[in-house]
Amino acid sequence: MRTIGVIGGMSWESTQSYYRLLNESIKNRLGGLHSAKVLISSLDFAEIEAMQHDGHWHQAGVKLAHEARRLEVAGAECILLATNTMHKVADQIEHVLTVPFIHIADATAQAIKRKGIHKVGLLGTKYTMEQEFYAGRLSMQHGLDVILPTVEDRELVHHVIYQELCQGRLDAVSRRHYVEIIYELMRQGAQGVILGCTEIGMLITQGDSPLPLFDTAILHVEAAVDFALGHQADSR
Ligand code: GLU
Repeated sequence: MRTIGVIGGMSWESTQSYYRLLNESIKNRLGGLHSAKVLISSLDFAEIEAMQHDGHWHQAGVKLAHEARRLEVAGAECILLATNTMHKVADQIEHVLTVPFIHIADATAQAIKRKGIHKVGLLGTKYTMEQEFYAGRLSMQHGLDVILPTVEDRELVHHVIYQELCQGRLDAVSRRHYVEIIYELMRQGAQGVILGCTEIGMLITQGDSPLPLFDTAILHVEAAVDFALGHQADSR
């Protein structure tokens, strides 16, 4: 089994999920006492969030690339960046690595296409929903038709991520709002919805949704476990 490196802490709430999901997936596949070989570098999210807010993306990329290298030197055989938003600087990270960087949007898009779905709603931070690096990658590289919530709904989804989910708060009213937004995406023709923020799965699960959900944290982990167990992560 290969060792998986995780750049986490963005937020640590979802990094906990990654650690659990990695171990559950290995256990499901190998049984018994098997567990995942994982190295985690967990950052202070306040520092990263300040860089996002101030538009200092390159500086954030330098920091994440440094962490990625540290993980590789420590023995990681692939790298996961456990946040959708920070994939904005994926190129800076990939550039310093010799081991594979498993891109969260690629893992997600491949799972969506396997289900025969081509029109998907996207929930995430405003950066993820509105910028080319993510929605653009889904459409340009994977041929998906991406539907976004309205401007007001995007604001709400973004606010809940930073003010609630990344601080470990799960609120029933916010859950209802998210579900209403999913219904609206369905009315616009979405056949499924991407939970394009690694914390949203803490709030919304498949039972809440009329559409199939694609939880990026789960799909990212599954792609990494495929790789760790010697399957080609992008071949299915
Ligand atoms: N974990 C979140 C994501 O998947 C948001 C936190 C961040 O800005 O990195 O985008």
